[in-house]
Amino acid sequence: MIQKKICMFGASGVGKTSLVQRFVQSIYSGKYHVTIGVKIDKKEFSVANQDVNLMLWDFQGEDNQHKVRSSFLRGASGYLLVIDYTRHETFVTAFSIQKMIETELGKVPFLILLNKSDLVDDFSISDDEIDEMKAKYGWEVLKTSALTGERVEEAFTELTRQMLRHA
Ligand code: GDP
Ligand code: MG
Repeated sequence: MIQKKICMFGASGVGKTSLVQRFVQSIYSGKYHVTIGVKIDKKEFSVANQDVNLMLWDFQGEDNQHKVRSSFLRGASGYLLVIDYTRHETFVTAFSIQKMIETELGKVPFLILLNKSDLVDDFSISDDEIDEMKAKYGWEVLKTSALTGERVEEAFTELTRQMLRHA
């Protein structure tokens, strides 16, 4: 079976761990665990008639530590860059995070996730800003919710599809 590594990126609290949990276990814990290190979850699934063993690498706690970044990224076939739809600063920092990853890893498939799409009343990123990001950078954006599960499976499936094509 093909094995592929996916890294989760994005500012603290955007929902990286919750998205992995939702995808791997189809549950939502609603808990906020801050521990140090990296958690690696595994999920076997099928994309386009291809069995894939995904390894999902997720930083626990602060994810801006230079010293762990290159070993975290090594061998990654793709990544999800998560933004919190309700916190504008996580949209702003996504641009520098993306630049950093590309410098370190080169061009590999990735998707931008606007997470917490269930919190409609608290959105702090405008449609214009999202459209501009898509137009200017050509990034693919999905609106997800780890809480409701909206488009979570689709995000991992689409990324894996692109990774298999890229390989
Ligand atoms: P991480 O630091 O990026 O791993 O973020 P977590 O997965 O730990 O989530 C941070 C907080 O946001 C937690 O309290 C989660 O319950 C909450 N959260 C994560 N995803 C969602 C979502 O889609 N909707 C809502 N309403 N809350 C979410
Ligand atoms: Mg986390």
